[in-house]
Amino acid sequence: MTKVSIIGAGPAGNYSAYLLAKKGYDVAVYDEQPVIGIPWACTGVITGDVLSKQIRLPENIIINRIEKARIIAPDGNSVEVKLKNDIIVDRARMDQHIAGLAKEAGAKYYVNHRFIGLEQSNGKITASIKNKNLGNVIKVESDWLIGADGPRSEVAKSSGLFENRKFYVGLQVTANLENDNIIEFYPSEKGIAWTVPENNKIVRAGIAVSNQASIYFDEFMARAVGKDYKKKIIAHQAGPIPLHNPKAKTQKGKILLAGDAATMIKSTTLGGINQSLIAATAVTEAIETGKDYKKLWKAKIGRDLWLSLMMRKIMNKFSDNEYNKLIRIFSSDKNKKILETFDRDEPRKFALKLLMQEPKLLLLSRKLLF
Ligand SMILES: Cc1cc2nc3c(=O)[nH]c(=O)nc-3n(C[C@H](O)[C@H](O)[C@H](O)COP(=O)(O)OP(=O)(O)OC[C@H]3O[C@@H](n4cnc5c(N)ncnc54)[C@H](O)[C@@H]3O)c2cc1C
Repeated sequence: MTKVSIIGAGPAGNYSAYLLAKKGYDVAVYDEQPVIGIPWACTGVITGDVLSKQIRLPENIIINRIEKARIIAPDGNSVEVKLKNDIIVDRARMDQHIAGLAKEAGAKYYVNHRFIGLEQSNGKITASIKNKNLGNVIKVESDWLIGADGPRSEVAKSSGLFENRKFYVGLQVTANLENDNIIEFYPSEKGIAWTVPENNKIVRAGIAVSNQASIYFDEFMARAVGKDYKKKIIAHQAGPIPLHNPKAKTQKGKILLAGDAATMIKSTTLGGINQSLIAATAVTEAIETGKDYKKLWKAKIGRDLWLSLMMRKIMNKFSDNEYNKLIRIFSSDKNKKILETFDRDEPRKFALKLLMQEPKLLLLSRKLLF
């Protein structure tokens, strides 16, 4: 029986394990943490429509449903847009749920097991995995190895696929803050920032920036949560977020990278849960058919990841003043309507329509050329 070892029990690893085990592969998943899904560093915002094409989550994992977003300019002006079907998930439970489905389908799980290196010979891959319970290193031989081990992927490093990568630092807290159940985005020249309600009394508030994270974090928290924000904090979450690299190599022989390990992150919002799940379908197809993995995942999410990256590159060049102008352009009813059709996971359907309708945006997007 073909043996597949998966490193990492996040969305990419668990969903790959589930799909492959269902098809009868001999699947083993290794995660360095003692409990799947913990610690979590994620806001848990998912476009429900895209998610539902992959998996149905039980209601107890969905902690909130959000119908509106407010985009707040640096000068304080804002525009509100309706969202289609955005859900906020309990990430730890979501990871545990998908791992549960994979186990039911026959996948074996080994927690507290850290991947530390690999060797390849005779068409087999031998992974060295440290059993943190016993302190010894075991050798695991398999036909395929999946690196679903997140942004700092040791599998990518060990197989020479890591190359040059850029990261954002994500700093987030859960905090007591009365709110009107609207997601708030605060675009600015300093970086990306948000508040996302868990309920009408608690939010997940965070920033993602490429440098000087703690300075911007303090500034943003004082603005969005209040000057006394430190007293309102319930818990901290932090983690690196890779910037998508369309040229990243994601396969070496029978070693495949999926999810954050392959930089499959939407650069506009820095979300990657849906992309990790979709990548798992490409992993499964590549193993089943022997087809080129990169072609498979690119056909599913490549164009949208690329377009998000282009949008991010433009946004990164905006000054606060240009963000103010942009929010004013979006405040008109006709543009708001188009914004409401925006599917963050599939930006291609929307970008052209908006640029054609609103030529002023072309003036702002001239930044692409410089
Ligand atoms: C602050 C923040 C907020 C975010 N908010 C959102 C959001 O709202 N919506 C969204 O879609 N995305 C969001 N993301 C991104 C999202 O969390 C990731 O895209 C997603 O978790 C990627 O899943 P993955 O399975 O590829 O990797 P991960 O979820 O990172 O899972 C990797 C797993 O591998 C394990 N691992 C790592 N190294 C090893 C090793 N050497 N050996 C064994 N196991 C190992 C880890 O323990 C972990 O369980 C956010 C990220 C951050 C940091």
